Amino acid sequence: MTKIINSRFEMPGILKVLVDAIADEIVQADLVGFFLKQPDGTYRGYTGNKLPVDITELVIDPAQDEFAKYIILNKASDYISDTSKDQRADPAKLELLKIKSILGLPVIVDDDVIGLVFVHDFGKPMDLTVEQREVTEAFVNMASVAIRNIQMFEQTQDLLNRQQLLLDLTNALSKSLSINDVLSTCFHYMKASTGCGDIGIHLYNEQERILTPYHLSSTSHFTEEEWKGIHKQGIQLHIDKDLLFHEVITTKKAVAIPDVFADPRPNHEACKSFGIQSMILIPLVANGKVFGAVAIPDIHKKKVYTDNEIDFIQSICDVTATALSNAIYAENLDLAVKQRTAELQQANLKLEELVKELRYLNDLKSDFIASLSHELRTPITAIKGTIDIFKRGILGELNAGQRDLIETSNTAVERLLDQVNELLDFAKLENGKFELMSELVNFKDIVDEAVRILTPLTEKKKQTIQVKSEVQRSLKLDKQRILQVLLNLLYNANKFTPEGGEIAIEIGEDHEKIQVEVRDTGIGIPTEKQKYIFQKFYQVNNQLRGTGLGLAISKQLIELHKGSIWFSSIEGKGSVFSFTLPIGGENHESD
Ligand code: ADP
Repeated sequence: MTKIINSRFEMPGILKVLVDAIADEIVQADLVGFFLKQPDGTYRGYTGNKLPVDITELVIDPAQDEFAKYIILNKASDYISDTSKDQRADPAKLELLKIKSILGLPVIVDDDVIGLVFVHDFGKPMDLTVEQREVTEAFVNMASVAIRNIQMFEQTQDLLNRQQLLLDLTNALSKSLSINDVLSTCFHYMKASTGCGDIGIHLYNEQERILTPYHLSSTSHFTEEEWKGIHKQGIQLHIDKDLLFHEVITTKKAVAIPDVFADPRPNHEACKSFGIQSMILIPLVANGKVFGAVAIPDIHKKKVYTDNEIDFIQSICDVTATALSNAIYAENLDLAVKQRTAELQQANLKLEELVKELRYLNDLKSDFIASLSHELRTPITAIKGTIDIFKRGILGELNAGQRDLIETSNTAVERLLDQVNELLDFAKLENGKFELMSELVNFKDIVDEAVRILTPLTEKKKQTIQVKSEVQRSLKLDKQRILQVLLNLLYNANKFTPEGGEIAIEIGEDHEKIQVEVRDTGIGIPTEKQKYIFQKFYQVNNQLRGTGLGLAISKQLIELHKGSIWFSSIEGKGSVFSFTLPIGGENHESD
């Protein structure tokens, strides 16, 4: 017996050895049966040696069997040597098995009578000695130890299985990338832990206090559409109206209901619609907040969950909750990003159309300016020719008054021509139709020419003009255009510097470029306006004279020569405009 107890780890085997040994070796009794305790407190036949009836059909109810009750209460064996005199045992059983004398023994595990062993003969008394009874008792006690071991072993095994399941679940979740992966992993393990295939996840909206059906396992009796449809038709899961959901959401604890219609908490209408008999509802908690609940109903039977099982299902849900909430968050984020991207694309398209239109309008404008200034130039040139003829006295000498008038007209026409030319340049540059006419030029010659042209204007305002140049270099460039840039800067210096001010030109070079600086001691440019200075048509004070195009054109011309232009200015003190022209490459030849 000891050997068997130590080598077998399953109940039926050990109990069979127990009953056979008692029957054959110890008391030579006809009938030995073992009865196992049931959750309702009765004892049901489990195994016997050779009973004439199916032992599993036999149930001993201590409420009706005084003999069994006595053994259970005293946790001790008892012997009735003559059942006709001691009538505590259930008469129906005595009659059925022709019992004349009977030995009853408790099987005690952890102070609980988990089973009963009955020993008797069929139709005749046994006449057991005290020694036989004691040995039988010792034998049953030995079996109790074995059963206890088995139970512990089974519990450990169970615990291990559950831990393994949780470990597998964590593993599977870590590999689940999409929301669908996470969901099917959840459903798979919830089914494995409950044995039920109908698993529905509801999401909880804290503000509105309602739950909405989210996803249903594919192993369900219903399709997800049917499930959602039935909910839509009239099942409102408002937690202030549904006691069961209210309890689960507020206590954050799972609730199992073995018979839904015998319990006031579940929504009976909903249970009827789905044919639910029993169910377990588990909260989904992530970061301490309930974001949903898992409903696992049983359609076929009134399923009873032990506390242990409920705890385990809750652990499964706890592990999945975090993964699920992350996946839902990511899904929502994904959705939001997709929506924003679509909106942006839409906006981009509109912007592109707008840019196209603006470009078209800009081209139209430049074309218009180009043709207009072209058209204007011819008559203006003709007027200027006529004025020249008058000025030179070809048509007869003019008197002083006439000469003054002609002189004023001449200045006005020259300015008009300059401005029209500026407009024409600008339009050409805008349209990309501008071409440089490069030639080899001594840079100092351009500077001298510019100074010569400017001198009458500086003299008029009693301004000094100084040139400091170390450069004696020839460069390949468009002489007229660079002269135009220099004159632009010098005209501005003259225009925005009060009488008696100073203008200076300084030219330096290094091995890569020459650099030209035009300084003045004029009114300067306010800091907040400086960023607009190179924009076309911009003027700080909307001066009447000038087009606001000079600097914009100069910048383009310098950049066409692959140089750069910039300035610094202090309001009230003066400005320095600088530009560079690269030496080297095609543009360069030194003499
Ligand atoms: P315009 O001189 O025809 O108005 P520009 O493009 O040459 O156009 O110059 C733009 C504006 O920059 C001028 O109207 C003026 O307000 C400012 N500006 C340019 N050069 C100077 C300078 N040397 N000193 C002060 N302000 C200047």
